[in-house]
Amino acid sequence: MPYDSENVFAKILRGEMPCHKVYENESTVAFMDIMPMSDGHVLVVPRSPAENIFDLDEEYLKEVTKTTKLLSHAIKKALDPSGLIVKQFNGSDAGQTVFHYHMHIIPVYNGAPNKNHGYEMEKPERLESIAQIIAAKL
Ligand code: AMP
Repeated sequence: MPYDSENVFAKILRGEMPCHKVYENESTVAFMDIMPMSDGHVLVVPRSPAENIFDLDEEYLKEVTKTTKLLSHAIKKALDPSGLIVKQFNGSDAGQTVFHYHMHIIPVYNGAPNKNHGYEMEKPERLESIAQIIAAKL
């Protein structure tokens, strides 16, 4: 299937839709997941029209990894989770719902179960305040 440039992350990258941004550079943008599995659930998105791991250029993969590491440290400092999950889905059978490559960073707090993937919208004020707390530790 060809890349659909009307997907929600493509619109966020073009500034056509809002997001709670935590960090950006030339190659990547990191913003809050609007249906977080836990407090501090961040998505890292490359500025490249790639749907999945099969399409994404290696240079962008490297940039996503660098930004993921940067954000992981900031989340740890800001929110003090006891664990951190880093994961990524390819294809609807694997659970992908937005067809622009992205990495999930999902904090875990003292063994408490995380919410289901894409389960419940978080309040924008809460997402924005967590985004600012993480950004302050970058
Ligand atoms: P995936 O299933 O890996 O494709 O995950 C897509 C993720 O994007 C889900 O966790 C959704 O909660 C999240 N999501 C969907 N729309 C938005 C949006 N407009 N802004 C931020 N996150 C979103």
